[in-house]
Formats: sequence, structure tokens, C-alpha cells
Amino acid sequence: TDSDAADEAVRATCDDASSCKRFATSKGYWSDPYIQYFVRQAGERKAPEINRGYYARVQGMSHLLEAFIRRTEGNCQVVNLGAGLDTNFWRLKDGNLLPKKYFEVDFPMIVARKIHNIKTKPPLSKSLIETHSTDSLMMDGHSLDSDRFCIVAADLRDVLDMEDKLKKFQLDPGLPTLFLSECVMVYMTPEQSSRLVRWASDTFHTAMFINYEQVNMADRFGQVMIENLQRRQCTLAGADTCQSLDSQKERFLNAGWESADALDMMTVYGLLPQEDVARIERLEFLDEKELLQQLLQHYCISWAFKDKLRLGLSQVAF
Ligand code: SAM
Repeated sequence: TDSDAADEAVRATCDDASSCKRFATSKGYWSDPYIQYFVRQAGERKAPEINRGYYARVQGMSHLLEAFIRRTEGNCQVVNLGAGLDTNFWRLKDGNLLPKKYFEVDFPMIVARKIHNIKTKPPLSKSLIETHSTDSLMMDGHSLDSDRFCIVAADLRDVLDMEDKLKKFQLDPGLPTLFLSECVMVYMTPEQSSRLVRWASDTFHTAMFINYEQVNMADRFGQVMIENLQRRQCTLAGADTCQSLDSQKERFLNAGWESADALDMMTVYGLLPQEDVARIERLEFLDEKELLQQLLQHYCISWAFKDKLRLGLSQVAF
């Protein structure tokens, strides 16, 4: 059906993201020893502005993720929504920054592939075994559960089913919780993403939601981005929520979050540690400074929190 084809195009975006990340790490933009086990080759060359864009995305998201874990002193859980082939769990473990439990949710087909990779690549399974107290991990075709890491197959548009599955694996509404969504909500209608964001704020009293996606889609450059995706059968169902930084904040504020903020990636790029930015800017010559600027102005990180336990979550920022 049409909607199966649309879901298939959305699932394919996960290969895209991972192969761009693999390529940028192969050039030295940041280090990720694990992505090679999910994406076989660095693949075709990506333009320098794409690599810099991914650098800002990964560093920006990691900055907030790590700040949240430090702020809660690891006494928290993380739920990565639409995690794809993300490697955060392994990198957090190596950095001694694991939350009590790290959850991932994605479509069954992606989850099955991820579990297969984990099963067959010792450097991936090693971290799971090391953080697990018994001899056996729970693993089947579409879920994996261990003491510190859990992967669940669910559709983010069916929030109640997803909640059921996560609770089966001990997702704890009483624990400070961080939700991550990186290039995910844009594939859902505004109603669907609002429902997801509302569920998170209704269910958790002390929580944070960090979202990365397109913004400023109404202008000429944004329209071209949308057309390019449509050419690959991919519709940005959520393009309406991606009109402006204000509409990003409003999605959270209208769904019961206490406070919300949003920055475009050009701004984030300027707030990242500038010695490292200077280092990556020397990696590849960039001709089209203006194109980079345009690109970065069309993505953003938005975040929101609820802080009943008064942990000082407003400090988790740039
Ligand atoms: N977050 C990862 C990253 O940034 O590397 C993957 C991003 S990829 C562009 C989008 C991911 O969201 C895909 O893995 C896709 O399968 C997942 N996704 C999109 N809509 C979803 C839904 N309704 N239910 C579950 N997963 C979904």
C-alpha cells in the first residue's frame, strides 16, 4: 500500500544518516569506533558542508545528552525514539556515562537488523555483556533486553502500544528521563508528534525532551529540501511543525512541558567548543561558506523539560 511505501522510505532514512555519520568519522570529524559495525563502508564521498552539518548535529546532541546524564548523576534513563543505528549507548559506556538504563525504539525491521548486528559483532555484544549481571541476555527477532540496554520494536505513532512494550522492560516513570529524537518527528504529522510529546510530559514528572530536525521550511531553501526528499518518495509529514523555532517550542509548551527552547544549527555551531570547530574546519577545504550557513539555518535542536525533583534541568543547555 501507499502507506507501507511511505514507511519504507522513512526506514531508509536511517541508512542515510548512518552512512553520512560513517563517512564524516572516516574523515576525522569526530570519533565513533562502533559505527563501522552497522554501516559496512564509508560509502560515496559527501560534500564538506554535509560533513560539517553532521558534526554540528552529533556534537550538539551529545552535548545535551551528556549534560543531562551529569546533572542527574546517572540516576536516570534515556529513551531514544527512532534510534536507527545510533551508537550512543556504546559511546556513553566507554565514557563512563551510562544512565541506569538506555532504551531504543524503532520500526521492527530496523530493530531486527540492529539486533542481528549486535549478536554477530563481538565489539558490540561485549559492552552489553559487561553491563549485564546474569549469563543470558533476552533477545528475540524484535526486542533485546539487558540490565542497562534495551531495544524495542514499536511504532511511535501508536503511543499506548509503545508504552506497554517499554514498561514490560522496566521503563520507570519515577526516574528522571531523557527523550531523544534525532530526525524522526519530522516524518510524523503534527498531531502524531504532539501526541508523543504530550505522552512524555504526562507520564514523567522529571524529564527532558531533546529534538533535532528541520526548521524554517517555508522559505525557498526549505522548499528545495522538501522537494529533494519527495523525489525519494519521502514526505516530511511534519513540515508544518518545522516552520520556525517558535513552532518548535510551541509543540512542547502546548503539550504540558514547563519550559522549552530552540536554536538553529548555525547558532549551535557557534556555541560548540571553538578549538574543536577550528580543528574540523581544517579537515577539508570548504568553498561554499554560504551554502553551509543556509544548511545549518534549516536544522535546529529544540528541547524542553519538567523538573519536579528540582534537579536544575534548566542548566542542561548550551
Ligand atoms: N535517530 C537516528 C539518527 O539520527 O542517526 C536515525 C534517524 S533516521 C533519519 C529516522 C529513524 O526514525 C529511522 O530509523 C526510522 O525507522 C525511525 N522512525 C521514523 N518514524 C517512525 C515511527 N513512526 N515509529 C518508529 N520509528 C520511526
